[in-house]
Amino acid sequence: MKLHEYQGSELFSQAGIPTGAGHVVTTIEEVEKLKDSLGDLLVIKAQVHVGGRGKAGGVKLAKPENAVEVASKILGMDIKGLTVKKILVKEAIDIDKEYYLGVIQDRANRGVTFMASVMGGVDIEEVAVTHPDKIIKVTIDPSLGLQEFQVREIVFGAEFPVELRTQASDFVRKLYKVFMENDCTLAEINPLVVTKNGQLIAADAKVETDDNADFRHPEWEDMRDLDGSDKLELDAKKAGLSYVELDGDIGCVVNGAGLAMATMDVIKYNGGKPANFLDIGGSSNPDKVVTAMNILMAKPLKAILFNIFGGITRCDDVARGLITAFEKIKVDIPVVIRLTGTNEEVARDLLEKAGYKVGSSMDEAIKEVVALANNR
Ligand code: GDP
Ligand code: MN
Repeated sequence: MKLHEYQGSELFSQAGIPTGAGHVVTTIEEVEKLKDSLGDLLVIKAQVHVGGRGKAGGVKLAKPENAVEVASKILGMDIKGLTVKKILVKEAIDIDKEYYLGVIQDRANRGVTFMASVMGGVDIEEVAVTHPDKIIKVTIDPSLGLQEFQVREIVFGAEFPVELRTQASDFVRKLYKVFMENDCTLAEINPLVVTKNGQLIAADAKVETDDNADFRHPEWEDMRDLDGSDKLELDAKKAGLSYVELDGDIGCVVNGAGLAMATMDVIKYNGGKPANFLDIGGSSNPDKVVTAMNILMAKPLKAILFNIFGGITRCDDVARGLITAFEKIKVDIPVVIRLTGTNEEVARDLLEKAGYKVGSSMDEAIKEVVALANNR
């Protein structure tokens, strides 16, 4: 689950990381009421789940006397397809310098990896490309926890000058605590600013939590914002499907997580781009297929691939599910179906009678769907 900046900041401040004074509001009346209580300069920040709000015009400085004007421009504005419904009104920080400090769940290195840089404020992906030497990466073994020598490695690596090292070390330890205690996949402070009087403050908060841990975080229920892609993943979850949105254009409906992963790999291998990971599990229930299709088609696609292995699930049941589903929803892009396993002949027969082409080799079906998608 992605958290908004104000929610992430709340977690930071509970852990003792300074974030600066501010309030999240949804109306201009609230801005009117609090504009004179936050100092001579305010910063007004859109709370939407998109990166680069600043560049998109969603972060603006304002004097108390024009706070209402600035806030009314940001509230309701559209940022990359999302409407701004909440804004964070904060006391502006007098910034001397911007650093970067982030921590991620790092599957490749089987640990929790800190990244820190003296080049904060800007897109860290950009820094990684243009100045890879300016990013320090330190992987923590979560069973041992963050070690003091690693704290020093991070702080020195990010080139914090001597007078800021104690504060910076404190940020690292506390950020690690926030990350672990809240089952995060990402906790990022960009920028981590140094004020003109030498204080470190987290001027932004980007936090994502691991949905696999939601059973032990009842508090997450109220924190979820159903705008944006989180909603689709949640709908899928409610329907008993696992769905992860990706940025390609070939929709995939697969049964079994392993087969779904393999399908995405083979699509990529053949020059296509999967639009999603979707595991419909061991069910052939037409309702589930309809739900899957609706979730899938919430974003523009070029083609759809069904890749079903009938083990316990019978292919003919899946075929009936597909036929019923296609009767219910209109699909105006090419669909490639590959079925194999129990009762596949019956399934193929049913689908072919209904006018669908069915392949039995995964390789063949994937090559076909990639070609169809790339020709559109
Ligand atoms: P993002 O674009 O979504 O990452 O939003 P940020 O919260 O990181 O803000 C973008 C940029 O706005 C920062 O890198 C700062 O340069 C600037 N900014 C944000 N908050 C403040 C503030 O309190 N004071 C000042 N002077 N600038 C700020
Ligand atoms: Mn930022």
